[in-house]
Amino acid sequence: MPADPSPAAARVALPPEGGAVAVAPGVHWVRMPLPFALDHINLWLLEDGDGWTIADTGYNSEATRALWLRLFDGVLAGRPVHRVLCTHFHPDHMGLAGWLVGRTGATFATSLTEWLYGRALSLDTSELAVPPTLSFYRRAGAPEAVMERLAVWATAYRASVSPIPAVLHRLRDGDRPMIGGVPWRVVVGRGHAPEQVCLHAADRRVLIAGDQVLERISPNVSVWPNEPDADPLGDFLDSIAALTATIPDDVLILPSHGVPFTGLHARLAALAAHHAERLNTCRAACDRPHTAWEVTRALFTRDLDPHQMRFAVGETLAHLNHLVHRGALHRHRPDDGGADRYVAR
Ligand SMILES: [Zn+2]
Repeated sequence: MPADPSPAAARVALPPEGGAVAVAPGVHWVRMPLPFALDHINLWLLEDGDGWTIADTGYNSEATRALWLRLFDGVLAGRPVHRVLCTHFHPDHMGLAGWLVGRTGATFATSLTEWLYGRALSLDTSELAVPPTLSFYRRAGAPEAVMERLAVWATAYRASVSPIPAVLHRLRDGDRPMIGGVPWRVVVGRGHAPEQVCLHAADRRVLIAGDQVLERISPNVSVWPNEPDADPLGDFLDSIAALTATIPDDVLILPSHGVPFTGLHARLAALAAHHAERLNTCRAACDRPHTAWEVTRALFTRDLDPHQMRFAVGETLAHLNHLVHRGALHRHRPDDGGADRYVAR
């Protein structure tokens, strides 16, 4: 691979199953399956002295573990794994961190919030998590008929990860961990996850972006039952500004889904424009009082199953909460635990 990431570098072939493709000096791309409509995740193997740093780990499934065993024998060539680094706590990223750390003796690195979130959610029981989940979706105006299917997801995280490592090597915004003899700068991105670790190697003009910047889909920015009044969209928009200001445009972006691509600043601007448009649509939909469920129907016109509806309602609430925080919408909350209604101010 040339050291200079050009658009041509972004069109390398997909990695074969159980194999890897070099995308930059010392950086190898691996794809793992996911049991969702979004059917794959990208992981990165970084050459690191006599061994490896692994960036993100895959979902906790037999299929992913089997592929890791093939990688150990093949691409990793029996060399030691020094560090397992996760961009954020979502199960496709942190799912096998504990399993990999246990197998290899590697250290585990991510930001403090991502580690704590993963640890906390993996300890949730139905008793703890189902009641607030039900009241969250009731507040959102979900019909009683779908409530049970929404509640099923309250404890889904636990099954989708191997036990999260008990010991953290903390990464902070601005840290410069050395990987493969060069400094990688930690750039924290917020909104999709609370303190997502993106990694920028200026020498190699590469950005490991996690789910903070994706090429074809807009990263999910949602409000979830465990933090119902959060403003993740405000965080996400702030991060777009921060990433634009601190990362040069000439990087090859290594995203967690899709293929490596270039054009960071244009993509960030497009994401900001997408959310500005969605905010306008949300506000217009609230010319009369509406529930979040009703506004979701205005934003997402295709048919959605309850799993997809969770993400759609979460996204809608992210826009509604942001408008409430900005003073553009009023939220009326009834005392009886019934549905909130949003109306433009
Ligand atoms: Zn994610």
